[in-house]
Amino acid sequence: MQVFSADALVLRTYRYGEADRIVVFLTEDRGKKRGVAKNASASRRRFGAALEPLSRGRATYVERENRELVRLDRVEPQQSSLDSAAGRTPGEAARALGHASYFAELIDEWAPDGQSNERLFRLGAAVAVALGRSGSIDALARYFEYWLMRLEGVYPAIDRCPRCGRLALGEGIALVVAERTYVCRTCAPGGVHLSGAAVGFLRASGSWTPSEAAAADTSQGALQDLEQAHERLIALHLEKEVRSLRVLKELRPEL
Ligand SMILES: [Zn+2]
Repeated sequence: MQVFSADALVLRTYRYGEADRIVVFLTEDRGKKRGVAKNASASRRRFGAALEPLSRGRATYVERENRELVRLDRVEPQQSSLDSAAGRTPGEAARALGHASYFAELIDEWAPDGQSNERLFRLGAAVAVALGRSGSIDALARYFEYWLMRLEGVYPAIDRCPRCGRLALGEGIALVVAERTYVCRTCAPGGVHLSGAAVGFLRASGSWTPSEAAAADTSQGALQDLEQAHERLIALHLEKEVRSLRVLKELRPEL
């Protein structure tokens, strides 16, 4: 038996028996863990609001030999994702919480159990902070998707058309879904098109912080191009539906 203490992001929880919960969490130093939180529903002292998806806290857990499930003893909250709803209109607050679940679900899908991934932890933590500030939730979501896929090494290159070698892609690109690449507009008359502004957003995201991406003045059209392209790319890689995405679509404001 060994006791660990680590900064962690809560990814999701589900019921386990009468009063316990299974908590899936990403630790900063030792990757994703699954733990049994005894009496989690009743024990606000030990868990409080810390078990909301994408909340960050200091987790104390015990690993036991030959058991996949750890015992999660407590999570001292550092940042609750419920804070991201503060200061927003009711509609925007619901979207912020919906996105906290969406980000947490994608991290859960991408992070293998028990494999240290500090960069993914840092991305999740930084995006959680940015979600608690003002700024465009849509821009933050596109930034997160870009970086998530980039960290996993599956984001298509945006510096050069792989078909004709053209370097200037600032006038726009197209996603060739079957090849998982972006090509220049001359090379792809069909496909999912991304405007020059969308390409500019991707390039800038390479050096932006999440808060800078959310605060930047990016057009809705560019963000919609990116949303379509990213949804296809994520579906290709996960080979399954992202559950929280359906909820987000229902929360979309009428334009
Ligand atoms: Zn080309």
